[in-house]
Amino acid sequence: MSSTQRSHLIRPLVRGLLPYVPGEQPKIPGLIKLNTNENPYPPSPAVLRAVKAAVDGRLRLYPDPRASRLREHLADQHGCQPENIIIGNGSDELLALAVRGFVEPAASPRHARATEFVQFFTPSYSLYPVLADIHGAMENGVPLKPDFRLPALAELERNGKWRFDAALTLITTPNAPSGRGYATAALDKLCQAQNGVVVLDEAYADFADENAGALALKHPHVLVARTFSKAYSLCFQRVGYFIGHPELIAALDKIRDSYNVNGLGQIAAAVTLDDLVYYRANIQQIKATRATLDRELTGLGFQVCPSQTNFIFAQPPKFAAQDWLQKLREHKILVRWFSPADVCDYLRITIGTEAEAAALVAAAREILG
Ligand SMILES: *Cc1c(COP(=O)(O)O)cnc(C)c1O
Repeated sequence: MSSTQRSHLIRPLVRGLLPYVPGEQPKIPGLIKLNTNENPYPPSPAVLRAVKAAVDGRLRLYPDPRASRLREHLADQHGCQPENIIIGNGSDELLALAVRGFVEPAASPRHARATEFVQFFTPSYSLYPVLADIHGAMENGVPLKPDFRLPALAELERNGKWRFDAALTLITTPNAPSGRGYATAALDKLCQAQNGVVVLDEAYADFADENAGALALKHPHVLVARTFSKAYSLCFQRVGYFIGHPELIAALDKIRDSYNVNGLGQIAAAVTLDDLVYYRANIQQIKATRATLDRELTGLGFQVCPSQTNFIFAQPPKFAAQDWLQKLREHKILVRWFSPADVCDYLRITIGTEAEAAALVAAAREILG
């Protein structure tokens, strides 16, 4: 079979697809890794103990397909019922399920219908357009304000590009990659104006002054996404969740894989919720390091966007941001750079430990000469 024949085995949509590009997970030891917003602190000792204790002959068994213990725990924490919660293999999986569950694939792009639209602000999480593409849905990316603030409702109405009828609207709040936080009151108004489903993707909520978690229980068409990856040091285990109306949650529950959440991840996440004191201290430390890093980089001439997350987004001085990426790498420091025009002048830098942040500042000072 020739390569042309083989390529015809694959759907045209998949053949033409540009996949999501995850941040590099380098094999080189000794690199300071500030490129994927991982938490610099390990899971709590109790979580590590619980995971290790679970590694025995029971690995032959399927995990709880409903993740009942974890959902009950989360329901207690959020003041809702387990029926308000679905767990995913990371919140990424749930974002994909939301596209599949709430959006029609586009029948004819020239006659696009509201039911076929995935909508998001730009810049925001670059996975959203990829999920829309995979599903063959229409996408509507609408620019944030130049300083990455949320446009006011009146502005969105006036401008005419925003679709209040989009089947699914995905909002990263606090925003990534800018780090900007959004007022719950503004998000509430925007949610009220939307006719379709709204997902508030709150991956970084724990690092922010306020969060919009309550909107998931206030509006039947609003889902809030949270993850154990960022604030709870569990990227490796892949656990995220949505909170929302039981009817939307049940719809997503129907289309997920039966055993979508691995057993060790369920255990790790449940024990995490018993040990929040440990995590609150880490979050406080990360916020303190964030303030230091903001001040130090500003002092070196970086223009730092105010952050409500565990990373900062900054325009570096003197050299192009892409050159900084390379220069920092030569100093064994890995940060993230994105090529789209609206963000290509910035570096996204994860808040590491105090020592890692200090190493970054020292490297930046050397690069500036
Ligand atoms: C990291 C991140 C996620 C994904 O989290 P997982 O639970 O690890 O899949 C989702 N949304 C945003 C905006 C993120 O930054």
